[in-house]
Amino acid sequence: MLPFHVPHLTGREQSYVDQVFESGQFAGNGPWTNRVQAFLQSSLEAPHVLLTHSCTGALELAALLSGIGVGDEVILPSYTFCSTATAFLRTGATLVFCEVEHSTLNMDVHDALSRLTSRTRAIVPVHYAGLAPDMDALRQAAGSKGLRIVEDAAQALGVCWSGKALGTLGWAGAFSFHETKNVHCGLGGALALSCDADFERAEAIWERGTNRSKLFRGLVDKYTWVENGSSFYPTECQAAFLLAQLEAQQDIEERRRTLHDRYSLRLRPMADLGWLRTLAHDSRIRTNFHAVPVILQSASVCDALRQHLLRASIQAYIGYVPLHSSPMGLRLGYQSADLPATEDIAPRVLRLPIHTRMGVADVDIVCDSISDFFEHSAC
Ligand SMILES: *Cc1c(COP(=O)(O)O)cnc(C)c1O
Repeated sequence: MLPFHVPHLTGREQSYVDQVFESGQFAGNGPWTNRVQAFLQSSLEAPHVLLTHSCTGALELAALLSGIGVGDEVILPSYTFCSTATAFLRTGATLVFCEVEHSTLNMDVHDALSRLTSRTRAIVPVHYAGLAPDMDALRQAAGSKGLRIVEDAAQALGVCWSGKALGTLGWAGAFSFHETKNVHCGLGGALALSCDADFERAEAIWERGTNRSKLFRGLVDKYTWVENGSSFYPTECQAAFLLAQLEAQQDIEERRRTLHDRYSLRLRPMADLGWLRTLAHDSRIRTNFHAVPVILQSASVCDALRQHLLRASIQAYIGYVPLHSSPMGLRLGYQSADLPATEDIAPRVLRLPIHTRMGVADVDIVCDSISDFFEHSAC
């Protein structure tokens, strides 16, 4: 079986975690957490980074910090993971779903901006597949209207837009270190913040609503409850594991690039034949090769291809079920017809396997099997 994903291991995670055991300090917000935060601050060129237990947590921290709540509107694509939505749903904000571009599966900025109202407070682009929507247009619109951009950069660690790290282009950016991402620690995440003024509050919200971090820095002599916070950080074991991965980020990216390049080479003739389509790649983006989504002509071809690959022991993965027409979305009052472009494309997306345990020969096996499907199947 060629699995869709296998979490990468560098071989150094265990020895770093052993060092946590030797130190006897496990709970988090300790030396390993600090090292990882400093590492990310420097690699992202971000003024502030807080390590979290997940990207879900990072988005929730951003939503709490933003003060966006009842009566406020947040614009986000429907084509995303549900955490993008729940972060703001739980602060009481109204979710305004927008379309994605068919060429990139990223936010359709034109459509997003057409949904602005006097109540809009934030726009949440989701950097799907290590790509991005037009961040220049988005930043310009947000800047002129005083809106916050919260980037869901869960899939975008290492991706640059015009030389600047995704996740640092807006007010806040949330990253994921879930084991399905390029760089991971089992479960983990981070929030990058661009504004100095918000950092003190962010840190308190992150520290269960206390100013304990100030105690560590010797700024207060006892710590106390100062914010409506929660418990957002991971353990020191996760931070240590993550540092080993972050140190190998370039190596991981290189390996994925080799596989991704091979996919591009092999899929291009199939695209020319009209069998499928790959995502367009804006020249301002330097990607991290997170995913290889292909778009088929219909939902039934997509499903038949997935079954065909599975019979050849290849695991491919479906795209997102749009949030607005999911069971929760319908319960919130959205209707499937609200977003026709998203409804049309979502069931036609198939993600092909890409992970560091694969070689170029595996990419060829996948692509041969796709060719075989189109040459010999009835559809
Ligand atoms: C993976 C992912 C998340 C959730 O990340 P966790 O770290 O598992 O909470 C959120 N949004 C997007 C777009 C993702 O791909």
